[in-house]
Amino acid sequence: MLHYKQVKSVLNKHKKRDSWFLDDYSVNPYEGCSCNCLYCYIRGSKYDENMDEGLAVKANALQILEKQLAARAKKNQYGIVAIGSGTDAYIHHEQKEQQTLGMLQLMLKHRFPVFISTKCTLVTRDIELLKEIDKAAILPEDLQHTLKRGVILSVSVSTMNENISNMLEPGATSPQQRMELLKKLKQEGFLAGVNAIPVLPYISDPDPELEEIIVAAKESGADYILVGGLTLFGNGIADSKTLYYKFLERYDASLLSKYRALYGENFYTPFSYQNQLKEKAERLCRKYKIRSNIIE
Ligand code: SF4
Repeated sequence: MLHYKQVKSVLNKHKKRDSWFLDDYSVNPYEGCSCNCLYCYIRGSKYDENMDEGLAVKANALQILEKQLAARAKKNQYGIVAIGSGTDAYIHHEQKEQQTLGMLQLMLKHRFPVFISTKCTLVTRDIELLKEIDKAAILPEDLQHTLKRGVILSVSVSTMNENISNMLEPGATSPQQRMELLKKLKQEGFLAGVNAIPVLPYISDPDPELEEIIVAAKESGADYILVGGLTLFGNGIADSKTLYYKFLERYDASLLSKYRALYGENFYTPFSYQNQLKEKAERLCRKYKIRSNIIE
């Protein structure tokens, strides 16, 4: 059941900028995520199999964030803030709780640029506010000449197959709806693209399936597509590796031995797999003339 909690800090400063999403900071309006993706890295003993049931609203987040942003702005420590690194900023609770909305209003007030990756269409509620942030945000000096935008919006997909998405991402909108959302965001003039993260070994990483994602991104007007592999953490009952392997049993049990060979006791795929995926993604991005990074 949704509950409310007090927190001491909201704005997390990274040791170094995220090389993919370009954020120097992150904030999470909620603890837990009702998209409930089985592969989610935040899963584990803290949450149950259904993360929606243990979801928490950070009740005092806006008061704390206001102070933290003001302090950073005063020292001219501007940087992109990722809203929702451990939750989706637009889970269905956002309709009522409006935590993300409040955070965006503070970003505008203190002129911080934002990055949002979502699987939910509620982001369209905030289009006008995001446009204001896009114009008003102050970028860190080294991004001023390359990025030139105060808002970056990604839709996140792991497959274009609706059945697989229903099994793996039960609380998210369909991949097709996410691509429609991307079209809308592009029509509204945003810098926007696709996070194909995580691509699923033997399911959405073969050439035709990965190509299907890249073609859908291109047709939806994406400025970029970021392609990344699948990490599977933990062996506890609510951990992503356990839940994902259960999904494999239901979806196609013959894949289990392939995954066991690929992951072994590890949570990551081997470097050789990661390099092959990177090369494949770059080859397909060149074929469809789409950037494999947010900035050129
Ligand atoms: S949308 Fe992101 S944060 Fe939410 S469950 Fe899925 S992977 Fe986790």
